Amino acid sequence: MSTNLTDDSAAKTPTPLVNITSKEELIRQKVEQERARLAREMGIDAQVREHFNKPVENPFTASQRANTTLLFGGLTWKHEYLIHGALEGLGYKCEAVPTPNVEAFQLGKEYGNNGQCNPTYFTVGNLVQHLQSLEEKGLSRQDIIDKYVFFTAGACGPCRFGMYEAEYRLALRNSGFDGFRVMLFQQAGGLDQSEAEAGLDMNVDFFMAILNAMNMGDMITDVGYQVRPFEAEKDEADAAIGECMDYLHEIFKTHRKFTLEGKIGSFVKNLPKVGGTAEYMGKFIDQLYGTDYTDALKAVADRLAKVKVDRTRVKPIVKTTGEFWAQTPEGDGNFNMFRFLEREGAQVLVEPIGTWIMYMIHQAKQSKRDRKGVTAEEAMPSAWRIDKRLKNEMQMRKATAKLTLAESIFKREWNRLRETLNGIPHDLTDQYELQRMGHPFYNSRAGGGEGHLEVAKNIYYSNKDLAHMVLSLKPFGCMPSTQSDGAQSAVVNLYKEMIYLPVETSGEGEINAHSRVQMALGEAKVKAKQEMARVLEETGLTLDQVREYQDAHPELQSALYKVPHHKGIIGSAANFAKHVSELMKKEARERVSNYAAD
Ligand code: SF4
Repeated sequence: MSTNLTDDSAAKTPTPLVNITSKEELIRQKVEQERARLAREMGIDAQVREHFNKPVENPFTASQRANTTLLFGGLTWKHEYLIHGALEGLGYKCEAVPTPNVEAFQLGKEYGNNGQCNPTYFTVGNLVQHLQSLEEKGLSRQDIIDKYVFFTAGACGPCRFGMYEAEYRLALRNSGFDGFRVMLFQQAGGLDQSEAEAGLDMNVDFFMAILNAMNMGDMITDVGYQVRPFEAEKDEADAAIGECMDYLHEIFKTHRKFTLEGKIGSFVKNLPKVGGTAEYMGKFIDQLYGTDYTDALKAVADRLAKVKVDRTRVKPIVKTTGEFWAQTPEGDGNFNMFRFLEREGAQVLVEPIGTWIMYMIHQAKQSKRDRKGVTAEEAMPSAWRIDKRLKNEMQMRKATAKLTLAESIFKREWNRLRETLNGIPHDLTDQYELQRMGHPFYNSRAGGGEGHLEVAKNIYYSNKDLAHMVLSLKPFGCMPSTQSDGAQSAVVNLYKEMIYLPVETSGEGEINAHSRVQMALGEAKVKAKQEMARVLEETGLTLDQVREYQDAHPELQSALYKVPHHKGIIGSAANFAKHVSELMKKEARERVSNYAAD
């Protein structure tokens, strides 16, 4: 559609002022007149402008599924490997694009718009880089466009996340892959099925498989970061994790989906109206009470338990927070920060994707409450319309009750998996507590990026004796991160004991970022050593005695031995020393009672 903004006569004579009924109307018309005059002077009054229309996407249909490869990425390799297995198990051909590197970032800059946030460059450039690598392997551009689809998360904003879709399209066009399909999974509203054209069947099996893969990816990642710094033999933890991941990939690939089977099953399935619901309920119950995944994790726990650790190594715990993408993948996007921290002698506490899922549900609940009675068609009813107000109240309660149920189910599933790994992975952080802590500094209704979470997590992990230092990874050009930077200065002023370091991540400046982290880490190491000295003094033990006790008790050397967390103690070694002193006291008490019984 094209629109001529002004016609010729308007270009010559000012539009007369008509129907002036108020001062506002007079001002509006005068502004219009002035705008037209300036446009005439600039010679842009007769410019024809094209109205923007969303480009028509080539469809991805069910009939193309067998010959189309689904590309995805943006998480850790563990999450992606399990999602890969899950998608294969659902009958899709799929491939995870590699973790983005600096070359991908440069391609993103070359083919995309200027002034985007850092994750945009990395992710957009990464897709282009991967398509180019397919071309180098011998595939023609047309084959790539016809036989591949990229599947990613998207949103309508309010930050630059809302621009990702357009950025992908621009970069693909500029790099010669115009017409390549990018399918968006809307983070706040599910996938637009009409866009998917049924090529991706977004059914219950799909959602459950992806959620299970993400949760189990979270668990294994968390365990890895807790075990690696203490492994008795170098690389033993990664070797064990590699084996476990191969095993879990196979589990996801071959996982049997619940269906109503047999004569009775087919009969129920075909019953009009109730057939679909019965199968849906069956799948849901299978998820809640089935043991396929927990049995698999038990086997993983057995393997990981064989990794030997030395828990007497004193290491500061560094909690990593920040923007979702900057804190998740393990690569150049965050200067390979997690491995750097481990090399420098820290224990890293990473953020699970599960926290993000719970945050999404929490925000949706808050939004339902805030929008009670406000719809597109209608404002809040008058006070005397009790009937309408009651109806709105009921609708809001129904919607929030469903979300509360979703929260409880997600937590339950999380804990079920956690317990299978002997409770080693961390519990989900309570969203209500985070809101309570963060809201005074960062309005919890301000969406975009991590919202109030970044501020809240800083307080939460520092105040609950969970981390010696909080490192926030903030992408260059990130709008919400810039806002929370301002709020964080108020937080650190109030909580003087905190060691908090924000680091801006970009494709360049790795050495500078690492050196800043090293300096803050020095302080955190001192804090960890002082804490250990205090615990040893309180317990009356020496480090050698703790080591001797550990050597004499092989179960304490297992990576999956659960050391309880003690109030006021952060470090793993300090908590272990305290635990050893408790075990020693318990043994002494038992000896005395045995002696008395004899
Ligand atoms: S949160 Fe920040 S880095 Fe992430 S998409 Fe939004 S603006 Fe970009």
